[in-house]
Amino acid sequence: MKKIALHWQILIGILAGILVGILCVQFDAGTAFAVDWIKPFGTIFINLLKLIAIPLIIVSLIKGISDLVDVTQLSSLGIRTLCFYVATTIIAVMLGLGLVNLINPGGFISEDTRKEMLVSFGGEVQQKVDEVEKLEEARGPLQALVDIVPENIFESASANSNMLQIIFFSIIFGVAMIMLPFNQVEAFKKVLDAGNAIVLKIVDLIMLAAPYGVFSLMVTLVAEAPSFDVFKALGAYSLTVILGLVTLVYLVYSLFLYFFGKMKPQKFFKAIFPAQLLGFSTSSSAATLPVTMDCVENNLGVRKDVVSFVLPIGATINMDGTCLYQAVAAIFIAQVMGYDLTTSQQLSVILTATLASIGSAAVPGAGLLMLVIVLESIGVSPAGIALIFAVDRPLDMLRTSTNITGDALVAVIMNRFSPRNGRKPAS
Ligand code: ASP
Repeated sequence: MKKIALHWQILIGILAGILVGILCVQFDAGTAFAVDWIKPFGTIFINLLKLIAIPLIIVSLIKGISDLVDVTQLSSLGIRTLCFYVATTIIAVMLGLGLVNLINPGGFISEDTRKEMLVSFGGEVQQKVDEVEKLEEARGPLQALVDIVPENIFESASANSNMLQIIFFSIIFGVAMIMLPFNQVEAFKKVLDAGNAIVLKIVDLIMLAAPYGVFSLMVTLVAEAPSFDVFKALGAYSLTVILGLVTLVYLVYSLFLYFFGKMKPQKFFKAIFPAQLLGFSTSSSAATLPVTMDCVENNLGVRKDVVSFVLPIGATINMDGTCLYQAVAAIFIAQVMGYDLTTSQQLSVILTATLASIGSAAVPGAGLLMLVIVLESIGVSPAGIALIFAVDRPLDMLRTSTNITGDALVAVIMNRFSPRNGRKPAS
């Protein structure tokens, strides 16, 4: 029998999960059943993906860099990658800002809904706001830079939130390897090659569980979702975010692909569909990273050194979907709470949302937490996050898919713009 392609399997898992989730909420004990007996499998699946993320980054990044000819090649790849990451992020935030001002979703919210949301979610949101504010108080302006350089690599490797520290260490390690004569590092390169093959095999094994993992994630999501009325009340806001994300992915990215990547958008979107679906069901760019790397390398033919440099960094700092969402959310909250924002406040959203998206961890709900900083920068009370809290998860799913699509796009572009690698033993 012909094997069904992975993306179809994942899609079937998503749809079956939604149906079973709807079925579960019809019965009194249904939600408890989903949480007790189905949710753990989704958690196990996400844990497996996260488990392999750090080993994958370490081996593939060191291997990718040590395959380069010299350090100049790395710095030119690095600078170009960062330029494209920043450019796409700024376009995303401006698109969000334009749409939210044009549509004015805040005008669609009734006074009753506003009060209801602030009361229902106020407590939970206040806790999160306090956490972020406490963290921010202790931080100087250059703390983000200090945070990239770890004092102990084993400590960094003990938490997935330290991804940038792992990347930093792997880059130094790879650079040192390039600088040494080939015969001195040859044996270690063989170990890396083997390590890389083993890690990729583990990814393949984990992906066998993907349809069941996403099934379980979707059942839980539907079973724990707030009532449909909430979605109706926040419809204009959600639609503004969705319209922005769709325009970004299918219009802006297609133009980038056409002009910079010289690739047909259809080919690109077909190739990364499995990663998009996984980003959608896990809401985590970090958990999706192994699959994004696999799709970009094997389905799109992007070189390994580019994939292993561009994608781990992108998963951590390039979040176009998150940035667009933060702009829409911040202005929407300001609109509902009756703030009249000046042009300079709107411009400050561009800057802070860009920085906040770079600083957001690649995990579910991180963008919502960092929204606190965007709101504070324009003098809007972060307590207003309670207004959008209920619909955040579905929007997180969509923005995560967008985030990883943006990373893959830049990998395709870098494949064209970066010189070929090819370090050979000195003869
Ligand atoms: N969940 C998103 C990601 O992992 C981050 C966010 O919350 O926007 O890419």
